[in-house]
Amino acid sequence: MKKISALLILSISARLRVPALPILALIGFTFAGVGLAACSSDDGTSANTSAQHQTLNVVATTVQITALTKQVAGDKIQLTGIIPPGADAHEFEPTSGDLQAIERADLILRHGIGLDDWIDDTLKAGDHAEIVTVTEGVALRTAEEDGKTVDDPHVWHDPANDKIMVDNVAAALDKLDSTNKSTYDANAFAYKAQLDDTREQVQAIINTIPPANRKLVTNHDALSYFANAFGLQVVGAVIPSVSTEAEPSAQDTAALLDVIRREQVKAIFAESSINPKLATTLANDAGVRIIDDLYGDSLGEPGSGADTVDGMLLANARKIADALK
Ligand SMILES: [Zn+2]
Repeated sequence: MKKISALLILSISARLRVPALPILALIGFTFAGVGLAACSSDDGTSANTSAQHQTLNVVATTVQITALTKQVAGDKIQLTGIIPPGADAHEFEPTSGDLQAIERADLILRHGIGLDDWIDDTLKAGDHAEIVTVTEGVALRTAEEDGKTVDDPHVWHDPANDKIMVDNVAAALDKLDSTNKSTYDANAFAYKAQLDDTREQVQAIINTIPPANRKLVTNHDALSYFANAFGLQVVGAVIPSVSTEAEPSAQDTAALLDVIRREQVKAIFAESSINPKLATTLANDAGVRIIDDLYGDSLGEPGSGADTVDGMLLANARKIADALK
């Protein structure tokens, strides 16, 4: 198409005995003018020609993906996060408002690994949204539950995984909104550098804990990636599951109490998004500290300093170090 137009212009310029370049420039200018007019039109008739100038409607399922996407996109997109800060991601159910946002979306950024399976039920045949699983390419850790091996969804507790997720978000935005590609790529690059810095800071904080004390007992099994990344050992969980939907048996709780005493564990870490009642009882029985505001499945409220993934990782590291030192 472009080749034919160029040939046509060259042949016209040859017949008129004028140089081709000014004609090309003039035609280019005219089309640019038409393009601008189309973009500024509000009557909806120019939807096709101005598609690439429209703000992308993006839905992110989890609070972590919402936070990472904010870092990459800044104010270039219309972003709706579905799971709010403080909610239990394992038992989340979307509201009717969420369903409307999903219906309007051009792009849905989902977590996968069993944390947002509800998205499959909410999508309708006519929905046009592109769906991207942001955890694609992350090496998953597994856990043994009731004799079965299950994938652990809590990948965001390792900054290396967050960097993969940032790249996946940037690639998805680049593809659907190439006009802002340079912004997305630059923001992704900068945030990955910040995550590298966060990794070093978290490691320095964890290194202040005496090696014999680097043992974690959490409310549910959410910190395996964190422990693996920073040299801690997860010795047990009050709910012995990577999901909060499981119920511990009396034997589970008795066995954990034995482990806490035998391993001389200093504290139990319950999460901000989960009722700490059972963990508190267990901590009292074992005579150890309870920390009930660790970020396992959630991030902090806006302005808390833990409303970003890097801020959350640092907040957790400080709480863990304070309790285990
Ligand atoms: Zn969880």
